[in-house]
Amino acid sequence: MVQSSVLGFPRMGVLRDLKKANEAYWADKITQQDLLAEAKRLRLAHWKIQKDAGVDIIPSNDFAFYDHVLDHIQLFNAVPERYTSQKLSPLDEYFAMGRGHQKGGVDVPALEMVKWFDSNYHYVKPTLQDDQTFSLAQDPKPVREFLEAKEAGIQTRPVLVGPVSFLALGKADRGSSVDPITLLNKLVPVYVELLKALKAAGAESVQIDEPVLVFDLRPEIKAAFKPAYEAIAAQGSAVPSVVVATYFGDIVHNFDVLPAFAGAQGLHVDLVRNPEQLEPVIKQLGANQILSAGVVDGRNIWKNDFKKSLALLQTAIKALGPERVIVATSSSLLHTPHTLASEKKLPADVYEWFSFASEKVKEVAILAKAVTDAGAVSAELDANAAAMKARADSTRTNDPKVKERQSQVTDAMHDRKTEFDNRYAQQKKHLSLPLFPTTTIGSFPQTSEIRVQRNKFTKGDISEQQYDDFIKKEIDFAIQIQDELGLDVYVHGEPERNDMVQYFGERLQGYVFTTHAWVQSYGSRCVRPPIIVGDISRPLPMTVKESKYAASVSKKPMKGMLTGPVTCLRWSFPRDDVHQSIQCQQLALALRDEVVDLEKNGIFVIQVDEPALREGLPLRKGSERDAYLKWAVNSFKLATAGVEDSTQIHSHFCYSEFQDFFHAIAALDADVLSIENSKSDAKLLKVFIDEAYPRHIGPGVYDIHSPRVPVEAEFKQRIQEMLEYLRPEQLWINPDCGLKTRKWDEVKGALTHMVNAAKYFREQY
Ligand code: GLN
Ligand code: ZN
Repeated sequence: MVQSSVLGFPRMGVLRDLKKANEAYWADKITQQDLLAEAKRLRLAHWKIQKDAGVDIIPSNDFAFYDHVLDHIQLFNAVPERYTSQKLSPLDEYFAMGRGHQKGGVDVPALEMVKWFDSNYHYVKPTLQDDQTFSLAQDPKPVREFLEAKEAGIQTRPVLVGPVSFLALGKADRGSSVDPITLLNKLVPVYVELLKALKAAGAESVQIDEPVLVFDLRPEIKAAFKPAYEAIAAQGSAVPSVVVATYFGDIVHNFDVLPAFAGAQGLHVDLVRNPEQLEPVIKQLGANQILSAGVVDGRNIWKNDFKKSLALLQTAIKALGPERVIVATSSSLLHTPHTLASEKKLPADVYEWFSFASEKVKEVAILAKAVTDAGAVSAELDANAAAMKARADSTRTNDPKVKERQSQVTDAMHDRKTEFDNRYAQQKKHLSLPLFPTTTIGSFPQTSEIRVQRNKFTKGDISEQQYDDFIKKEIDFAIQIQDELGLDVYVHGEPERNDMVQYFGERLQGYVFTTHAWVQSYGSRCVRPPIIVGDISRPLPMTVKESKYAASVSKKPMKGMLTGPVTCLRWSFPRDDVHQSIQCQQLALALRDEVVDLEKNGIFVIQVDEPALREGLPLRKGSERDAYLKWAVNSFKLATAGVEDSTQIHSHFCYSEFQDFFHAIAALDADVLSIENSKSDAKLLKVFIDEAYPRHIGPGVYDIHSPRVPVEAEFKQRIQEMLEYLRPEQLWINPDCGLKTRKWDEVKGALTHMVNAAKYFREQY
């Protein structure tokens, strides 16, 4: 009687099939038709998994080749003219917006891509014009995919990004100043037209995602919900019924918006993140509205605690009756791996603690049964209770030595010996760097040869010695290229690293690893987060061997490269039984030992990447955010403050939205920061002058997400713009991020232009 529902399923397939197909298409190895066929196969397979699991409400249009927000840019014909004017096929135009296009005489950079809320998924920002118009794309994707499922005998509920969130998550294009939300009245008619088309195709209900409802909202955005949703409700039965979905936070602070949804069938809320919002939300619902209760975590891999979920569901049912409650995933399952069944190497006890997407859809179906008829699923409930107990009692989770060390952490351990001015004087002498020093962010291309050798080593086909020799050769090569390019601070290139977090996880105690548990990060890029299951410690040095070797064969300073504690935490699946601040401090202590070991071994520039620092920021202002900032910043400082003043600490961030976050970045006290900047306005750097930031900064001078090689003039112009906001002696010249996803010829081309531009400015000053 109680229905089960899934808000979205991962797109990649069991073996990252979509990634492979996309990349083959981009490399002209398969045709557009091949790619479309593969996508269709994946969609059908994913619907079938959910159907077979017994899920009642199965999503469609949750599939995207690159990103679902990008889908909507095309769906509403909100594609900037620089793409439409290229006259590419719709799919190529779509990919051009996602990743740039430099082929067949066309040269156009990608649209800006940013983090999706506090996740490690990235979406493409709707980029809107002052005179923006919208219209419905021909053969709209949500209708097409709904019909595709229907033809296969599966009734689905299409998922759409809501009109308010679509605009609120967008921005004005360069050269425009429009506040996107003012475009609402132009978008709503198109939205209505889309809903009518879905209804005509047979869709009875749609899921409209308005996740911005978990933010603190400007009044203009709050006010937009009413006209948008009233216009939809006014269509009556000409449009499907609407479930408004929110996730990744609570919506209690935006309750004044809810009357706008009076005409909606119901509301979805995230009860994993914010179970306490259940009762207040129930009180807000209209007389016949349903509650979609998100109790199965779409963001983590832990097996659902049925007992806990059932308690929430019972509360809802008691208040609303079974017909008005839907058991759902907390968010789309996009952020979870495809299936636990692929994991053959997990320790047997630990295996029983997890659920991935294909298992979570079963959990949703089981919970929906259990809530009214526990007897029908008693075996499943018993097995679940046993798994919960086994995890709680396991010795894997507790290491008394780690706890003891944490109890001995002092305030002084978080601070460098002296202030920056003094440190910098020593570093300058020690490292003899020119003005506008050039460097890169760490990784060089992860070639297929590297992957082949790594696989061979993992499988035992080559010995450790052979693998080490291979890595040394790769490092030699990276150094030779940096010699040729004339960079100032070298990196070893990270050829030994499969991934910037997994690599460390594999060398730390307290982690387990999967073999196939990939989740989409952006476009075709996937990450395989390791899983923190217990207290963390570092048995042995993790990076010293490679960095030391690299330094020994390099004539310039070699930068050691570590992933920071917050990023290790954020890009792992964290424990849900211990507060994240505790897990983070454990990581910080392990990294502190590594930093000191690097220094002892002759590495005097050490970069500790914290690209995830900002995404961990609680989405709303207030005490939770303040507490996070405190423990996150302290973890970084604890990890890095153990070195001498003459050792230079760098940190790196892959995002450009640091204005509201400036004080946290400044509080890290890193000697040099590199930050993504190439796709945003250099004006953003103004905060560094306004706040009299004393230390050094390398705002990225080009976009590494795109294969495009910018010409030298572009670099010069960018540096010139930066010099309007930064002091020359403060400015480092580097790319936006690591280069692992690029090809060597792209890297050489771009870095040649970058170094030339730096030399040009060196001569000017
Ligand atoms: N050092 C890492 C690299 O270059 C940094 C990656 C990142 O910030 N995402 O690959
Ligand atoms: Zn980065």
